[in-house]
Amino acid sequence: MRKPVIAGNWKMYKLLGEAVETALALKPLAANANHCEVIIAPVFVHLKTLADRLEGSNIKVAAQNCASETSFGAQTGEISAEMLKDVGASHVIIGHSERRQFYGESDESVNKKTKAALAFSLTAVVCVGEILAERESGNAESVVKRQIVGALGGLTVTDMERIIIAYEPVWAIGTGKVAAPEQAQEMHGFIRGVIAETHGGEIAEATRILYGGSVKPDNIAGLMKQTDIDGALVGGASLEAESFAQIINYK
Ligand code: PEP
Repeated sequence: MRKPVIAGNWKMYKLLGEAVETALALKPLAANANHCEVIIAPVFVHLKTLADRLEGSNIKVAAQNCASETSFGAQTGEISAEMLKDVGASHVIIGHSERRQFYGESDESVNKKTKAALAFSLTAVVCVGEILAERESGNAESVVKRQIVGALGGLTVTDMERIIIAYEPVWAIGTGKVAAPEQAQEMHGFIRGVIAETHGGEIAEATRILYGGSVKPDNIAGLMKQTDIDGALVGGASLEAESFAQIINYK
């Protein structure tokens, strides 16, 4: 049985005071959500404070990126997976489409970063998804397959226990255009099939595959009814405690 995951990606929003306020407001609202794992991903500089303030709650803290290098070194501006673990992060989002689009992330860097995260016992939330032109030209599945195979290359069956996939069609992120539940299900089923090819059926069945792209309180239930949708990666609607709590408590 795959335990659903509801993760909030706060992107580059909120100053520290507001981040703490939202996290503390979320705490009681998420307290009875035993049906799923709850994660928030603030900016790097808020991780330690939020991890401390949420200690003992059922809300985990994720980073939004990590360095591909694992050892200390001359890497100005980078933050290693070990440093994230050290300040209380349990998860890290890797290969978000905004990083692929604006910061040159490639399948290769996503693979390196995923391995770096695993080396320090973080759970990697690996993002994949096609852009609109790729969907319209009938290439969505081949693009997503390439991204999945690239991200998971060289990972062992044991490594896969700390992998969560987030399927985020880029045309649905921040646009208000959510994929239809059946459309998302089709791609999630496809992704599970790809994982079965790379790591075997048992691992594929156990891997959580989240949907991301304009998830809101009014569309989460329909998405969660789909067999292969195991949760959501939520951007805009995770910024307010009340709307994120409604998504968490979709049941
Ligand atoms: C995201 O940032 O991963 C995301 C899915 O954003 P939104 O929910 O705002 O579309």
